[in-house]
Amino acid sequence: MNREVRVRFAPSPTGALHIGGVRTALYNYLFARKNKGRFLLRIEDTDQTRFVPGAEEYIKEALDWLGIAPDESPWNPGSVGPYRQSERKPMYMQYAMDLVEKGHAYYAFDTSEELEAMRQRLTAARVVSPQYNSITRTQMKNSLTLPEDEVKARLESGEPYVIRVKIPRKEEVRLNDLIRGWVMVHSSTLDDKVLMKSDGMPTYHLANIVDDHLMGITHVIRGEEWLPSAPLHVLLYRYFGWEDTMPQFAHLPLLLKPDGNGKLSKRDADKHGFPVFPMDWIDPTSGDTAMGFREQGYLPDAFLNFLAFLGWNPGDHRELFSLEELIDAFSVERIGKSGTKFDINKAKWYNEQYLRAKSDEELAQYLMDDLQLEGIQIEFSKATQIVQVMKERATFPSDLWKEGKFMLVAPDSFDEAVLAKRWNNDALAVLGTYKEKLVDFPGELNPESAKSLLEAAAEDNGIKLGKVMQAVRLAVTGVGAGPDLMAVFSILGKDELVKRLDYALNNLKVNI
Ligand code: GLU
Repeated sequence: MNREVRVRFAPSPTGALHIGGVRTALYNYLFARKNKGRFLLRIEDTDQTRFVPGAEEYIKEALDWLGIAPDESPWNPGSVGPYRQSERKPMYMQYAMDLVEKGHAYYAFDTSEELEAMRQRLTAARVVSPQYNSITRTQMKNSLTLPEDEVKARLESGEPYVIRVKIPRKEEVRLNDLIRGWVMVHSSTLDDKVLMKSDGMPTYHLANIVDDHLMGITHVIRGEEWLPSAPLHVLLYRYFGWEDTMPQFAHLPLLLKPDGNGKLSKRDADKHGFPVFPMDWIDPTSGDTAMGFREQGYLPDAFLNFLAFLGWNPGDHRELFSLEELIDAFSVERIGKSGTKFDINKAKWYNEQYLRAKSDEELAQYLMDDLQLEGIQIEFSKATQIVQVMKERATFPSDLWKEGKFMLVAPDSFDEAVLAKRWNNDALAVLGTYKEKLVDFPGELNPESAKSLLEAAAEDNGIKLGKVMQAVRLAVTGVGAGPDLMAVFSILGKDELVKRLDYALNNLKVNI
């Protein structure tokens, strides 16, 4: 009875893969690895009207970037393909017919005008959500209401039709969700969903069930938005006679807005200026770019770690997990039921941890790459020194350049507020003496000598160093706060430091 664990991620290529979808893919991947099973990817593209060019490639690239590529997919098929539903089209009709023959589905010939008229009738009668269901179908044009020979004639004449599932009027449908426990739904709340469309394409519901069955899927791990569809899916498994191998369901909690009020959307992301897509996405119709975590400077392992914690936790205080460690620690039992608030600061925190864990050399290479774009050339050893000073203050690799720029380029502006408050005669006196001492200093400057010379300069003037320290920083870096100043001085070197002091002493006006 022990089947090989097989899970699938089944995205529809309707646009950029949202972060919620990436989390679904990750949990499926972790579950498969943990249980020595297989992770499949199936493209659900039965709704041709919603197909967006480039969306499929985007999904592949995102999963590759994160290192969670599927074991079987359209790009590396296994033995249960094709892995795109549009390519499986000829397979579905026989299953719909099977249900018609068993009396669990029926033909419906209603035109869109007739369906609309039905909706209006029901709305006028104050029905809150008008549906094609066990009651209303008795007044519609379908193979349950029309005489058999008329149905036959309509089918033979090539009249368009759909096939709908026949939902029983009074029945309790139960399913045991691995995250939510028993879920019970009354069939009177379900409608007779279309299984086969008039264009000969199956709908999501039919294709999803047939494919999960044919692909040997053992566990369906997907977003909570699919929970309302699950009772119908359970009924379909029953009607097909596939109950014995019906997959177990696990519906993942919603990702919520930062304030916890409602589902996280692209609009929230735009409002707060954070990404909700793994990578940049250029909308092929509007040409608009939606920003991605990758391009914002998130490291793939940090982003994965962050994603894993959006709904799951290991049950203790550990937060930093490599992919291998996640596989080891992962269990569906530890996925929460309630929605998870999206907190971009947590994503940044993860990025900082992973950035700091990198070697100085690896980070120096990031810096060198950025410098190359800026047309600035420095020795690798100098890049390493800058990294050592900046690494604790950086969130993204690009911060090394952005925040550390003053170590390579003299400031061209000076913080007005600090200037007004701190640039005074005491500062001028200490800096003047400091400059002279530096000029006379033989040999290379290091953090210790830079410091002792500065202390001596303050003492010579009878001024407490603490009182002028911010002015010293301002003169050299242009701002009032930053990394360890003596380390910065040592990186700048004596000549550059003297040059900057000179400039400040001659150009910055003293506030009396
Ligand atoms: N195609 C569905 C989606 O886009 C898949 C839902 C499921 O996993 O059953 O999310």
